[in-house]
Amino acid sequence: MKEAYDVLVVGAGQAGAQVCSALRQFKFEGSIGLVGEEPELPYERPPLSKDYLSGNKSFERMLIRPEMFWNGRNIDLLLGRRVLAVDAGQRRVTCSNGESIGYGTLVWAAGGAPRHLACAGSNLSGIHYVRTRCDVDKIIEQLPAIQRVVVIGGGYIGLETAAVLSKLGKQVTVVEAMDRVLARVAGEPLSRFYETEHRAHGVDVQLHVTVECVEGSAGKVTKVRLADGTLLPAEMAIVGIGIVPAVAPLTDAGAQGGNGVAVDRFCKTTLPHVYAIGDCALHTNDFADGAQVRLESVQNANDMASVVAKAITGDERPYHAVPWFWSNQYDLRLQTVGLSAGHDQIVVRGEPATRSFSVVYLKQGRVRAVDCVNMTKDFVQARQLVAHGVVAAAEQLANIDVPLATLLVDCHDEKSGRDAS
Ligand code: FAD
Repeated sequence: MKEAYDVLVVGAGQAGAQVCSALRQFKFEGSIGLVGEEPELPYERPPLSKDYLSGNKSFERMLIRPEMFWNGRNIDLLLGRRVLAVDAGQRRVTCSNGESIGYGTLVWAAGGAPRHLACAGSNLSGIHYVRTRCDVDKIIEQLPAIQRVVVIGGGYIGLETAAVLSKLGKQVTVVEAMDRVLARVAGEPLSRFYETEHRAHGVDVQLHVTVECVEGSAGKVTKVRLADGTLLPAEMAIVGIGIVPAVAPLTDAGAQGGNGVAVDRFCKTTLPHVYAIGDCALHTNDFADGAQVRLESVQNANDMASVVAKAITGDERPYHAVPWFWSNQYDLRLQTVGLSAGHDQIVVRGEPATRSFSVVYLKQGRVRAVDCVNMTKDFVQARQLVAHGVVAAAEQLANIDVPLATLLVDCHDEKSGRDAS
Protein backbone atom coordinates (compact mmCIF):
# COMPACT_ATOMS: atom_id res chain seq x y z
CA MET A 1 0.00 0.00 0.00
CA LYS A 2 1.19 3.50 -0.82
CA GLU A 3 0.91 6.51 1.48
CA ALA A 4 -1.18 8.23 -1.22
CA TYR A 5 -2.63 7.38 -4.64
CA ASP A 6 -3.17 9.57 -7.67
CA VAL A 7 -6.62 7.99 -7.89
CA LEU A 8 -8.15 6.32 -4.88
CA VAL A 9 -11.40 4.43 -5.45
CA VAL A 10 -13.65 3.54 -2.51
CA GLY A 11 -15.85 0.51 -3.10
CA ALA A 12 -14.50 -2.56 -4.89
CA GLY A 13 -17.79 -3.51 -6.55
CA GLN A 14 -19.06 -3.08 -10.11
CA ALA A 15 -18.43 0.65 -10.52
CA GLY A 16 -15.17 0.75 -8.55
CA ALA A 17 -13.63 -2.16 -10.44
CA GLN A 18 -14.78 -0.73 -13.75
CA VAL A 19 -13.35 2.75 -13.18
CA CYS A 20 -9.94 1.25 -12.35
CA SER A 21 -9.83 -0.95 -15.43
CA ALA A 22 -11.15 1.88 -17.64
CA LEU A 23 -8.42 4.21 -16.35
CA ARG A 24 -5.76 1.77 -17.48
CA GLN A 25 -7.59 1.19 -20.75
CA PHE A 26 -7.47 4.97 -21.34
CA LYS A 27 -3.71 4.90 -20.63
CA PHE A 28 -3.77 6.50 -17.19
CA GLU A 29 -0.28 5.98 -15.81
CA GLY A 30 -0.67 7.30 -12.26
CA SER A 31 -1.05 5.14 -9.15
CA ILE A 32 -4.46 3.58 -8.44
CA GLY A 33 -5.72 2.16 -5.14
CA LEU A 34 -9.05 0.33 -4.81
CA VAL A 35 -10.38 0.10 -1.24
CA GLY A 36 -13.15 -2.38 -0.52
CA GLU A 37 -14.92 -3.57 2.58
CA GLU A 38 -15.58 -7.08 1.31
CA PRO A 39 -12.64 -9.51 1.40
CA GLU A 40 -13.23 -10.94 -2.10
CA LEU A 41 -11.85 -9.77 -5.42
CA PRO A 42 -14.42 -7.52 -7.17
CA TYR A 43 -17.35 -9.60 -8.40
CA GLU A 44 -20.67 -9.19 -10.20
CA ARG A 45 -23.74 -9.07 -7.99
CA PRO A 46 -26.51 -10.06 -10.44
CA PRO A 47 -25.86 -13.83 -10.14
CA LEU A 48 -26.29 -13.63 -6.36
CA SER A 49 -30.08 -13.84 -6.66
CA LYS A 50 -29.94 -16.05 -9.76
CA ASP A 51 -27.34 -18.65 -10.76
CA TYR A 52 -25.14 -18.41 -7.68
CA LEU A 53 -28.04 -18.96 -5.31
CA SER A 54 -29.28 -21.87 -7.42
CA GLY A 55 -25.81 -23.42 -7.47
CA ASN A 56 -25.48 -23.08 -11.26
CA LYS A 57 -22.59 -20.62 -11.19
CA SER A 58 -19.41 -20.75 -9.15
CA PHE A 59 -18.08 -17.69 -7.41
CA GLU A 60 -14.95 -17.76 -9.59
CA ARG A 61 -17.13 -17.23 -12.65
CA MET A 62 -18.60 -14.10 -11.06
CA LEU A 63 -15.26 -12.32 -10.70
CA ILE A 64 -15.17 -9.11 -12.72
CA ARG A 65 -11.49 -9.83 -13.50
CA PRO A 66 -9.09 -12.55 -12.36
CA GLU A 67 -6.49 -11.69 -9.73
CA MET A 68 -3.67 -11.43 -12.28
CA PHE A 69 -5.54 -8.61 -14.07
CA TRP A 70 -5.20 -6.29 -11.08
CA ASN A 71 -1.56 -7.18 -10.45
CA GLY A 72 -0.72 -6.89 -14.12
CA ARG A 73 -2.12 -3.37 -14.32
CA ASN A 74 -0.60 -2.08 -11.14
CA ILE A 75 -3.90 -1.55 -9.39
CA ASP A 76 -3.49 -1.97 -5.62
CA LEU A 77 -6.41 -3.87 -4.11
CA LEU A 78 -6.87 -2.74 -0.52
CA LEU A 79 -9.58 -5.16 0.54
CA GLY A 80 -11.17 -5.99 3.86
CA ARG A 81 -11.26 -2.43 5.17
CA ARG A 82 -13.99 0.16 5.25
CA VAL A 83 -13.47 3.86 4.72
CA LEU A 84 -14.92 5.60 7.76
CA ALA A 85 -14.09 9.23 7.09
CA VAL A 86 -13.04 11.57 4.32
CA ASP A 87 -11.04 14.74 4.86
CA ALA A 88 -11.63 16.66 1.64
CA GLY A 89 -9.31 19.51 2.68
CA GLN A 90 -6.32 17.25 3.38
CA ARG A 91 -7.37 14.84 0.63
CA ARG A 92 -7.18 11.80 2.90
CA VAL A 93 -9.44 8.96 3.94
CA THR A 94 -9.37 7.01 7.19
CA CYS A 95 -10.07 3.29 7.15
CA SER A 96 -11.57 0.92 9.71
CA ASN A 97 -8.13 -0.67 10.26
CA GLY A 98 -6.69 2.71 11.24
CA GLU A 99 -4.89 3.39 7.96
CA SER A 100 -4.91 6.88 6.52
CA ILE A 101 -4.59 7.07 2.73
CA GLY A 102 -4.04 10.20 0.67
CA TYR A 103 -5.49 10.86 -2.77
CA GLY A 104 -5.18 13.18 -5.74
CA THR A 105 -8.64 12.27 -6.96
CA LEU A 106 -11.20 10.27 -4.99
CA VAL A 107 -13.84 8.16 -6.70
CA TRP A 108 -16.65 7.11 -4.35
CA ALA A 109 -18.25 3.87 -5.57
CA ALA A 110 -19.58 2.41 -2.33
CA GLY A 111 -23.01 1.25 -3.53
CA GLY A 112 -25.47 0.71 -0.71
CA ALA A 113 -26.42 -1.55 2.15
CA PRO A 114 -29.71 -3.46 2.22
CA ARG A 115 -32.53 -1.60 3.91
CA HIS A 116 -33.20 -3.57 7.09
CA LEU A 117 -36.52 -4.75 8.46
CA ALA A 118 -37.52 -2.45 11.25
CA CYS A 119 -40.30 -4.49 12.91
CA ALA A 120 -40.19 -6.61 16.07
CA GLY A 121 -38.26 -9.84 15.56
CA SER A 122 -36.06 -8.44 12.85
CA ASN A 123 -32.92 -9.64 14.63
CA LEU A 124 -33.93 -13.29 14.74
CA SER A 125 -31.65 -15.85 13.18
CA GLY A 126 -33.01 -16.98 9.81
CA ILE A 127 -33.61 -13.44 8.51
CA HIS A 128 -31.44 -12.80 5.47
CA TYR A 129 -30.55 -10.15 2.90
CA VAL A 130 -29.19 -10.56 -0.63
CA ARG A 131 -26.43 -8.05 -1.31
CA THR A 132 -23.09 -9.79 -0.87
CA ARG A 133 -21.55 -13.18 -1.47
CA CYS A 134 -21.41 -13.61 2.28
CA ASP A 135 -25.18 -12.96 2.56
CA VAL A 136 -25.97 -15.60 -0.06
CA ASP A 137 -23.50 -18.15 1.33
CA LYS A 138 -25.39 -17.95 4.63
CA ILE A 139 -28.68 -18.63 2.84
CA ILE A 140 -27.20 -21.54 0.90
CA GLU A 141 -25.76 -23.02 4.08
CA GLN A 142 -29.12 -22.97 5.85
CA LEU A 143 -31.28 -24.06 2.90
CA PRO A 144 -31.02 -27.84 3.37
CA ALA A 145 -32.64 -27.57 6.81
CA ILE A 146 -35.56 -25.39 5.82
CA GLN A 147 -38.75 -25.88 3.85
CA ARG A 148 -40.76 -22.66 4.14
CA VAL A 149 -39.44 -19.23 3.16
CA VAL A 150 -41.13 -15.86 3.29
CA VAL A 151 -39.66 -13.34 0.86
CA ILE A 152 -40.38 -9.81 2.01
CA GLY A 153 -40.52 -7.41 -0.93
CA GLY A 154 -41.79 -8.06 -4.46
CA GLY A 155 -39.09 -6.15 -6.35
CA TYR A 156 -36.58 -7.73 -8.71
CA ILE A 157 -34.34 -9.21 -6.02
CA GLY A 158 -37.24 -10.65 -4.04
CA LEU A 159 -38.85 -12.17 -7.13
CA GLU A 160 -35.61 -13.62 -8.48
CA THR A 161 -34.87 -15.17 -5.11
CA ALA A 162 -38.41 -16.55 -4.89
CA ALA A 163 -38.05 -18.11 -8.36
CA VAL A 164 -34.80 -19.87 -7.44
CA LEU A 165 -36.07 -21.12 -4.09
CA SER A 166 -39.30 -22.44 -5.53
CA LYS A 167 -37.32 -24.26 -8.23
CA LEU A 168 -35.24 -25.75 -5.41
CA GLY A 169 -38.47 -27.17 -4.01
CA LYS A 170 -39.01 -24.73 -1.16
CA GLN A 171 -42.45 -23.49 -0.20
CA VAL A 172 -42.22 -19.76 -0.91
CA THR A 173 -44.47 -16.83 -0.02
CA VAL A 174 -43.78 -13.35 -1.37
CA VAL A 175 -45.16 -10.47 0.70
CA GLU A 176 -45.46 -7.12 -1.06
CA ALA A 177 -46.73 -3.92 0.54
CA MET A 178 -47.98 -2.38 -2.71
CA ASP A 179 -50.98 -3.73 -4.63
CA ARG A 180 -48.74 -5.34 -7.26
CA VAL A 181 -45.19 -6.64 -7.57
CA LEU A 182 -42.52 -4.52 -9.32
CA ALA A 183 -44.77 -1.52 -8.70
CA ARG A 184 -41.89 0.94 -8.42
CA VAL A 185 -40.26 -0.04 -11.69
CA ALA A 186 -42.84 -1.46 -14.09
CA GLY A 187 -46.36 -0.99 -15.41
CA GLU A 188 -49.35 -3.04 -14.41
CA PRO A 189 -49.29 -5.53 -17.34
CA LEU A 190 -45.77 -6.63 -16.40
CA SER A 191 -46.63 -6.85 -12.70
CA ARG A 192 -49.69 -8.99 -13.36
CA PHE A 193 -47.73 -11.22 -15.71
CA TYR A 194 -45.06 -11.92 -13.08
CA GLU A 195 -47.66 -12.49 -10.36
CA THR A 196 -49.34 -15.08 -12.59
CA GLU A 197 -46.02 -16.75 -13.37
CA HIS A 198 -44.99 -17.00 -9.74
CA ARG A 199 -48.36 -18.38 -8.73
CA ALA A 200 -48.18 -20.90 -11.57
CA HIS A 201 -44.84 -22.04 -10.11
CA GLY A 202 -46.44 -22.56 -6.72
CA VAL A 203 -45.34 -19.30 -5.06
CA ASP A 204 -47.93 -17.72 -2.78
CA VAL A 205 -47.98 -13.99 -3.66
CA GLN A 206 -49.53 -11.79 -0.96
CA LEU A 207 -50.16 -8.23 -2.11
CA HIS A 208 -51.10 -4.97 -0.42
CA VAL A 209 -50.11 -6.19 3.00
CA THR A 210 -47.18 -5.32 5.26
CA VAL A 211 -45.21 -7.36 7.75
CA GLU A 212 -46.31 -6.70 11.33
CA CYS A 213 -43.50 -8.65 13.00
CA VAL A 214 -41.39 -11.76 12.80
CA GLU A 215 -41.99 -14.35 15.50
CA GLY A 216 -39.45 -16.88 16.70
CA SER A 217 -38.52 -19.57 19.08
CA ALA A 218 -35.07 -20.11 20.62
CA GLY A 219 -33.85 -17.08 18.68
CA LYS A 220 -34.89 -18.50 15.31
CA VAL A 221 -37.62 -17.42 12.90
CA THR A 222 -40.79 -19.51 13.09
CA LYS A 223 -43.49 -17.24 11.64
CA VAL A 224 -44.02 -13.98 9.84
CA ARG A 225 -47.09 -12.12 11.03
CA LEU A 226 -48.77 -9.81 8.51
CA ALA A 227 -50.68 -6.63 9.33
CA ASP A 228 -53.99 -8.28 8.35
CA GLY A 229 -53.40 -10.97 10.99
CA THR A 230 -52.21 -13.69 8.60
CA LEU A 231 -49.54 -15.92 10.13
CA LEU A 232 -47.05 -17.41 7.70
CA PRO A 233 -45.05 -20.28 9.20
CA ALA A 234 -41.44 -20.10 7.99
CA GLU A 235 -37.94 -21.15 8.96
CA MET A 236 -36.38 -18.42 6.83
CA ALA A 237 -37.26 -14.87 5.81
CA ILE A 238 -35.44 -13.10 3.00
CA VAL A 239 -35.73 -9.34 2.90
CA GLY A 240 -35.51 -7.40 -0.37
CA ILE A 241 -36.88 -3.94 0.37
CA GLY A 242 -34.27 -1.76 -1.28
CA ILE A 243 -30.95 -0.27 -0.30
CA VAL A 244 -29.67 2.66 1.70
CA PRO A 245 -26.89 4.37 -0.27
CA ALA A 246 -23.49 4.14 1.46
CA VAL A 247 -22.54 7.79 1.48
CA ALA A 248 -22.24 8.82 5.14
CA PRO A 249 -18.46 9.48 5.11
CA LEU A 250 -18.91 11.79 2.13
CA THR A 251 -21.93 13.69 3.40
CA ASP A 252 -20.27 13.94 6.83
CA ALA A 253 -17.38 15.59 4.99
CA GLY A 254 -19.80 18.18 3.57
CA ALA A 255 -20.88 16.67 0.25
CA GLN A 256 -24.42 17.52 -0.75
CA GLY A 257 -26.86 14.67 -0.95
CA GLY A 258 -29.82 12.96 0.61
CA ASN A 259 -30.91 9.74 -1.00
CA GLY A 260 -27.36 9.26 -2.29
CA VAL A 261 -24.60 11.75 -2.94
CA ALA A 262 -25.41 14.49 -5.41
CA VAL A 263 -23.28 14.58 -8.55
CA ASP A 264 -23.27 16.83 -11.58
CA ARG A 265 -23.35 15.70 -15.21
CA PHE A 266 -19.69 14.70 -14.98
CA CYS A 267 -20.25 12.64 -11.81
CA LYS A 268 -18.49 15.25 -9.67
CA THR A 269 -19.71 15.68 -6.10
CA THR A 270 -19.77 19.09 -4.45
CA LEU A 271 -16.45 18.25 -2.74
CA PRO A 272 -13.32 19.20 -4.67
CA HIS A 273 -11.53 16.31 -6.47
CA VAL A 274 -14.25 13.83 -5.48
CA TYR A 275 -16.42 11.91 -7.96
CA ALA A 276 -19.23 9.48 -7.11
CA ILE A 277 -20.56 6.72 -9.36
CA GLY A 278 -22.87 3.72 -9.38
CA ASP A 279 -25.76 2.93 -7.04
CA CYS A 280 -24.87 5.72 -4.61
CA ALA A 281 -24.78 8.58 -7.15
CA LEU A 282 -27.81 10.86 -7.18
CA HIS A 283 -27.71 12.37 -10.63
CA THR A 284 -29.76 14.25 -13.18
CA ASN A 285 -30.88 11.73 -15.75
CA ASP A 286 -31.88 12.82 -19.25
CA PHE A 287 -34.10 9.75 -19.57
CA ALA A 288 -36.07 10.72 -16.47
CA ASP A 289 -36.96 14.19 -17.80
CA GLY A 290 -33.94 15.59 -15.99
CA ALA A 291 -35.13 14.37 -12.57
CA GLN A 292 -32.61 13.53 -9.85
CA VAL A 293 -32.43 9.75 -9.61
CA ARG A 294 -30.23 6.94 -8.38
CA LEU A 295 -30.07 3.95 -10.68
CA GLU A 296 -29.21 0.52 -9.35
CA SER A 297 -27.92 -1.29 -12.41
CA VAL A 298 -24.76 -2.68 -13.91
CA GLN A 299 -25.26 -0.39 -16.92
CA ASN A 300 -25.29 2.74 -14.76
CA ALA A 301 -22.26 1.59 -12.74
CA ASN A 302 -20.22 0.81 -15.87
CA ASP A 303 -21.23 3.89 -17.85
CA MET A 304 -20.59 6.27 -14.96
CA ALA A 305 -17.20 4.58 -14.42
CA SER A 306 -16.36 5.26 -18.04
CA VAL A 307 -17.41 8.94 -17.76
CA VAL A 308 -15.11 9.41 -14.75
CA ALA A 309 -12.16 7.50 -16.22
CA LYS A 310 -12.43 9.63 -19.36
CA ALA A 311 -12.67 12.85 -17.34
CA ILE A 312 -9.58 11.94 -15.30
CA THR A 313 -7.66 11.25 -18.52
CA GLY A 314 -8.66 14.60 -20.01
CA ASP A 315 -11.74 13.72 -22.07
CA GLU A 316 -14.59 15.22 -20.04
CA ARG A 317 -18.05 14.35 -21.35
CA PRO A 318 -21.42 14.42 -19.59
CA TYR A 319 -23.19 11.25 -18.54
CA HIS A 320 -25.89 10.51 -21.08
CA ALA A 321 -26.39 6.77 -21.27
CA VAL A 322 -29.63 5.00 -22.10
CA PRO A 323 -30.61 3.04 -18.97
CA TRP A 324 -31.03 -0.71 -19.34
CA PHE A 325 -31.46 -3.64 -17.00
CA TRP A 326 -32.28 -7.33 -16.99
CA SER A 327 -33.87 -9.86 -14.66
CA ASN A 328 -34.04 -13.65 -14.94
CA GLN A 329 -36.90 -15.52 -13.31
CA TYR A 330 -37.65 -19.18 -14.20
CA ASP A 331 -37.14 -19.41 -17.97
CA LEU A 332 -38.14 -15.77 -18.45
CA ARG A 333 -35.56 -13.22 -19.48
CA LEU A 334 -36.75 -9.70 -18.88
CA GLN A 335 -34.74 -6.93 -20.54
CA THR A 336 -35.70 -3.34 -19.99
CA VAL A 337 -34.57 -0.16 -21.67
CA GLY A 338 -35.38 3.37 -20.57
CA LEU A 339 -37.10 4.53 -17.40
CA SER A 340 -40.85 4.03 -17.37
CA ALA A 341 -41.71 6.37 -14.47
CA GLY A 342 -43.74 9.33 -15.69
CA HIS A 343 -45.37 7.53 -18.63
CA ASP A 344 -48.94 8.44 -19.59
CA GLN A 345 -49.68 5.50 -21.90
CA ILE A 346 -48.87 1.80 -21.97
CA VAL A 347 -48.99 -0.42 -25.04
CA VAL A 348 -48.71 -4.19 -24.76
CA ARG A 349 -46.98 -5.68 -27.78
CA GLY A 350 -47.78 -9.35 -28.23
CA GLU A 351 -49.72 -11.64 -25.95
CA PRO A 352 -48.44 -12.14 -22.36
CA ALA A 353 -50.01 -15.62 -22.32
CA THR A 354 -47.41 -16.66 -24.96
CA ARG A 355 -44.68 -15.69 -22.44
CA SER A 356 -43.01 -13.59 -25.13
CA PHE A 357 -44.15 -9.98 -25.31
CA SER A 358 -43.11 -6.38 -24.66
CA VAL A 359 -44.60 -3.48 -22.76
CA VAL A 360 -44.02 -0.05 -24.28
CA TYR A 361 -44.29 3.10 -22.16
CA LEU A 362 -45.03 6.41 -23.82
CA LYS A 363 -45.18 9.98 -22.65
CA GLN A 364 -46.98 12.45 -24.90
CA GLY A 365 -46.68 9.92 -27.70
CA ARG A 366 -42.90 9.44 -27.34
CA VAL A 367 -41.38 6.07 -26.50
CA ARG A 368 -39.93 6.35 -23.02
CA ALA A 369 -39.18 2.78 -22.02
CA VAL A 370 -39.75 -0.79 -23.16
CA ASP A 371 -39.85 -3.95 -21.03
CA CYS A 372 -39.21 -7.07 -23.11
CA VAL A 373 -40.02 -10.56 -21.85
CA ASN A 374 -38.28 -13.25 -23.90
CA MET A 375 -38.14 -10.68 -26.73
CA THR A 376 -34.47 -9.90 -27.24
CA LYS A 377 -35.10 -8.59 -30.74
CA ASP A 378 -37.47 -5.94 -29.39
CA PHE A 379 -34.96 -5.05 -26.68
CA VAL A 380 -32.16 -4.47 -29.16
CA GLN A 381 -34.35 -2.36 -31.43
CA ALA A 382 -36.13 -0.48 -28.64
CA ARG A 383 -32.89 1.06 -27.46
CA GLN A 384 -32.83 3.45 -30.40
CA LEU A 385 -36.50 4.35 -29.97
CA VAL A 386 -35.81 5.32 -26.36
CA ALA A 387 -32.53 7.05 -27.15
CA HIS A 388 -34.27 9.28 -29.69
CA GLY A 389 -37.60 9.60 -27.85
CA VAL A 390 -39.33 8.47 -31.04
CA VAL A 391 -42.98 9.38 -31.55
CA ALA A 392 -44.86 6.21 -32.46
CA ALA A 393 -48.49 5.29 -32.93
CA ALA A 394 -49.92 2.86 -30.40
CA GLU A 395 -51.42 0.65 -33.16
CA GLN A 396 -48.01 0.18 -34.77
CA LEU A 397 -46.28 -0.49 -31.46
CA ALA A 398 -48.92 -3.05 -30.57
CA ASN A 399 -48.52 -4.86 -33.87
CA ILE A 400 -45.97 -7.62 -33.34
CA ASP A 401 -45.53 -7.90 -37.12
CA VAL A 402 -44.12 -4.36 -37.26
CA PRO A 403 -40.44 -4.54 -36.19
CA LEU A 404 -39.64 -1.72 -33.78
CA ALA A 405 -36.65 -0.74 -35.94
CA THR A 406 -38.98 0.28 -38.76
CA LEU A 407 -40.52 2.91 -36.49
CA LEU A 408 -37.10 4.45 -36.13
CA VAL A 409 -36.67 4.53 -39.90
CA ASP A 410 -40.05 6.23 -40.22
CA CYS A 411 -38.99 8.79 -37.68
CA HIS A 412 -35.69 9.49 -39.53
CA ASP A 413 -37.60 9.83 -42.80
CA GLU A 414 -39.97 12.26 -41.14
CA LYS A 415 -37.06 14.26 -39.74
CA SER A 416 -35.15 14.38 -43.02
CA GLY A 417 -38.39 15.36 -44.76
CA ARG A 418 -38.82 18.20 -42.30
CA ASP A 419 -35.19 19.23 -42.64
CA ALA A 420 -35.45 19.31 -46.40
CA SER A 421 -38.54 21.47 -46.44
P1 FAD B 1 -21.61 -2.37 -5.46
O1 FAD B 1 -21.42 -3.34 -6.56
O2 FAD B 1 -22.57 -2.72 -4.37
O3 FAD B 1 -20.19 -2.12 -4.82
C1 FAD B 1 -19.98 -1.28 -3.72
C2 FAD B 1 -18.87 -1.86 -2.88
O4 FAD B 1 -18.45 -0.87 -1.95
C3 FAD B 1 -19.28 -3.05 -2.03
O5 FAD B 1 -18.39 -4.12 -2.22
C4 FAD B 1 -19.25 -2.52 -0.61
O6 FAD B 1 -18.88 -3.50 0.34
C5 FAD B 1 -18.19 -1.47 -0.72
N1 FAD B 1 -18.26 -0.42 0.31
C6 FAD B 1 -19.38 0.18 0.80
N2 FAD B 1 -19.04 1.14 1.70
C7 FAD B 1 -17.69 1.12 1.76
C8 FAD B 1 -16.76 1.88 2.53
N3 FAD B 1 -17.15 2.85 3.34
N4 FAD B 1 -15.46 1.58 2.39
C9 FAD B 1 -15.03 0.60 1.53
N5 FAD B 1 -15.88 -0.14 0.80
C10 FAD B 1 -17.19 0.13 0.90
N6 FAD B 1 -28.21 -5.01 -11.94
C11 FAD B 1 -28.53 -5.27 -13.22
O7 FAD B 1 -28.29 -4.42 -14.09
N7 FAD B 1 -29.11 -6.46 -13.57
C12 FAD B 1 -29.37 -7.42 -12.64
O8 FAD B 1 -29.90 -8.49 -12.99
C13 FAD B 1 -29.05 -7.17 -11.28
N8 FAD B 1 -29.26 -8.10 -10.33
C14 FAD B 1 -28.86 -7.85 -9.05
C15 FAD B 1 -29.02 -8.83 -8.09
C16 FAD B 1 -28.63 -8.61 -6.77
C17 FAD B 1 -28.81 -9.67 -5.74
C18 FAD B 1 -28.05 -7.36 -6.42
C19 FAD B 1 -27.61 -7.11 -5.01
C20 FAD B 1 -27.88 -6.39 -7.37
C21 FAD B 1 -28.27 -6.61 -8.70
N9 FAD B 1 -28.12 -5.65 -9.68
C22 FAD B 1 -28.45 -5.92 -10.97
C23 FAD B 1 -27.61 -4.32 -9.34
C24 FAD B 1 -26.13 -4.19 -9.59
O9 FAD B 1 -25.44 -5.31 -9.09
C25 FAD B 1 -25.66 -2.91 -8.90
O10 FAD B 1 -26.35 -1.85 -9.49
C26 FAD B 1 -24.17 -2.72 -9.04
O11 FAD B 1 -23.48 -3.73 -8.37
C27 FAD B 1 -23.81 -1.36 -8.47
O12 FAD B 1 -22.43 -1.21 -8.47
P2 FAD B 1 -21.74 -0.27 -7.37
O13 FAD B 1 -20.28 -0.38 -7.64
O14 FAD B 1 -22.40 1.04 -7.34
O15 FAD B 1 -22.08 -0.97 -5.98
